[in-house]
Amino acid sequence: NKQFTLKSRPHGAPTIDNFALKSEQMPELQQGEVLLRTIYLSLDPYMRGRMSDAKSYADPVEIGDVMVGATVCQIEQSNNDKFAKGDWVLAYTGWQEYAISNGEGLMPLGKEPSNPSYALGIMGMPGFTAYMGLLDIGAPKAGETVVVAAATGPVGATVGQIAKLKGCKVVGVAGGSEKCLYAIEKLGFDACIDHRADDFSSQLAKACDAGIDVYYENVGGKVFDAVLPLLNTAARVPLCGLVSQYNATELPQGPDRMGALMGQILSKRIRMQGFIIFDDYAHRYDEFATDMKKWLSEGKIHYREHLVTGLDNTVSAFNDMLDGKNFGKTVIQVNQP
Ligand code: NDP
Repeated sequence: NKQFTLKSRPHGAPTIDNFALKSEQMPELQQGEVLLRTIYLSLDPYMRGRMSDAKSYADPVEIGDVMVGATVCQIEQSNNDKFAKGDWVLAYTGWQEYAISNGEGLMPLGKEPSNPSYALGIMGMPGFTAYMGLLDIGAPKAGETVVVAAATGPVGATVGQIAKLKGCKVVGVAGGSEKCLYAIEKLGFDACIDHRADDFSSQLAKACDAGIDVYYENVGGKVFDAVLPLLNTAARVPLCGLVSQYNATELPQGPDRMGALMGQILSKRIRMQGFIIFDDYAHRYDEFATDMKKWLSEGKIHYREHLVTGLDNTVSAFNDMLDGKNFGKTVIQVNQP
């Protein structure tokens, strides 16, 4: 069994030296256990937080432990009546080829699911995050302007498309012209601005000529700087993630802008709320799944994966995702079905 364990805590962007690629013999299967063969491994920005021991909402991965992560697996061998060889399950077995489970916490996906990897993306954690953050905290109304960055990633693309379904004007923010074009032509956004452009903030202001009513925050940094002056009175800001800061080793340079930020929040009565998807919304997963299945079957939501083959490529694929070199949901194909 090949696996990546955490060898040391990264300072800044993770490097291959922060991980050990090990091979271990799998132990004999006990009664009640199943042997899981990883087919797909999800890579998600939150994993950067688990590599660090800074205080957070979840415990860090300990040095020497296998890196965590959601996976879609097939049952390779079963000593558990509830699972048969070949069954597909959603699991949380991390950066490795095989794992043993007593069946607890495995979510059955059936014998022949049509798109098993979707359980890691559009039908899973990122899709659910987009749905709840936008609809419950953002509460968009028809005719309002919604802005979302990381607009072609699994969260951002879903946020924008749901906002369109709710009758909003949607302006995306993405890295590069190819992604921006995709957001407009394929995802149906009204506009999408390249955050690498020199005149990014003036382009954003032009695209949001009626201001911004909902800013779904995925990235922070200079995108938030450009958004803040455009927020309308009573704007909502679901604070989902701050990916521009995950590899930061110090606070950004420049004057302290905390007072100005607080002043804007006060005078414009802005409501900004953070959330952690499963901690806050696990009880509403079925509501999401019903809507999303329907939208997908009606062709109303498009979903794109960035599939990378081979467990060996996990560290570089993870860094590529934080750098924006992914185009869609990052998934590692660990084994063939
Ligand atoms: P993505 O696959 O979209 O990957 C992150 C993207 O962020 C990159 O592709 C890149 O896109 C963009 N990005 C990186 N650095 C910057 C920067 N400096 N400025 C602007 N954009 C940048 O990720 P996900 O869709 O999986 O996740 C999106 C956000 O949602 C993350 O912040 C994540 O942590 C958060 N999240 C939060 C959850 C919660 O419960 N609160 C649950 C799940 C996700 P581009 O090339 O377009 O710039």
